Amino acid sequence: MRHSTRTPHRTRAKNYGKQGQGQAATGRPAYHPATLLKIYVYGYLNRIQSSRRLETEANRNIELIWLTSRLAPDFKTIADFRKDNGEAIRKVCREFVLLCRRLDLFSEGVVAIDGSKFKAVNNRHKNFTEHKIQVRMQQLEENIAQYLAELDRADRDPAMVLPSKVARLKERIGRVKEQMSKLAAMAEQVKASPDGQVSLTDPDARAMTSTARSTGTVGYNVQVAVDAKNHLVLAHEVTNQINDRDQLAGMSISAKAAAGAESLTALADRGYYDGPQLRQAELAGVTTLVPKPLTSNSRAEGRFDKRDFVYDAANDQYRCPAGQIAIHRFVTKERGIYLSKYWSSSCPTCPIKHRCTTSEYRRISRWEHETVLERVQARLDAMPEAAKVRMQTVEHVFGTLKFWMGSCHFLTKTLPKVRTEMSLQVLAYNMKRMIKLLGARKLIQVIAA
Ligand code: SF4
Repeated sequence: MRHSTRTPHRTRAKNYGKQGQGQAATGRPAYHPATLLKIYVYGYLNRIQSSRRLETEANRNIELIWLTSRLAPDFKTIADFRKDNGEAIRKVCREFVLLCRRLDLFSEGVVAIDGSKFKAVNNRHKNFTEHKIQVRMQQLEENIAQYLAELDRADRDPAMVLPSKVARLKERIGRVKEQMSKLAAMAEQVKASPDGQVSLTDPDARAMTSTARSTGTVGYNVQVAVDAKNHLVLAHEVTNQINDRDQLAGMSISAKAAAGAESLTALADRGYYDGPQLRQAELAGVTTLVPKPLTSNSRAEGRFDKRDFVYDAANDQYRCPAGQIAIHRFVTKERGIYLSKYWSSSCPTCPIKHRCTTSEYRRISRWEHETVLERVQARLDAMPEAAKVRMQTVEHVFGTLKFWMGSCHFLTKTLPKVRTEMSLQVLAYNMKRMIKLLGARKLIQVIAA
């Protein structure tokens, strides 16, 4: 960790000297990283995340005064420590997980993975997408039309409208036109942005709804893998991706490494269902239980869906609900994966075709690694309580973290700093769990050992 180069102020500089720390390049003594880390750990354990509030507490809170041996850095020093030592702070969080592992607290090898949207500093009105700009432009055009109609009325019958109102209307039209030209410039920036979004206050924050309407959270997607036995957070990550579809493999592999387990069972919700991700996790030794999303149009419209077709692996063909055989026809590549297509020649004359397809033939698609998905489904069928275990394990963690973080979740801007902030939250969460499990005295002993 980097030493702060800011001067420990007033009499605290003298106390600091007693700790025998090095000099900064300017000749002024630097705060030891341990002192600043203690302030942050204390702060996050007690729901004081702001550097300004930590400065205040370091001067008046007897626990913090004792903890820092009367050193009271100013808020800038405290904030700079978090800003400049992101990687080291994340490492402290990982080290704490390793301590839990040494105490054999992850022995069941089952984790629940989930994601939740946390608000960024960025106000949603300072986040722009193409859709939002279109809606706003339309509103402004309607406003202008309304003002022009009122001006027309004033022209037709000047006695009915006061001259001061006419002046106000003209002024409003000018302001609206100015807003429209700013929005037009913003639309160009949005178009040039790789993911079609621009956030002004925190450039990494994203509107966390797929429709990107003006009502969604602007923030980050926080991922956690929580141990099912003691509800400790094994791994966490912060991304600005809107959905969870690409997170399963990364999170489960990180959790497996943190647990130091030969194998791991990962439970996740439908949002994580993605063939390549499930396969990647399986190849890494993770047993996944993820339900398939219910997105079949056929089922919604009362027709057979893929579950009604039985695959015959020996002959590489499907048996359809009418008992006909759908044979392999060709292989195609869609969205980066290879799919085999099957259909039966009997479809045009099938008596139950109205319950199956609206096309001439009912086509069935099969991914080249479909057996991975079949194994996931078989495991889910054998463990119907998986969803309950997942919810009981992980949802409390997000509830607690959001409660601690208050109405504005993150205080810092940009992805690296937000990640550091989340590591401090997770460290505090795990510490509190450990205090609950072992007691504070025992925890201090095992940390010191
Ligand atoms: S329409 Fe074709 S696939 Fe569907 S049940 Fe009839 S024969 Fe089978």
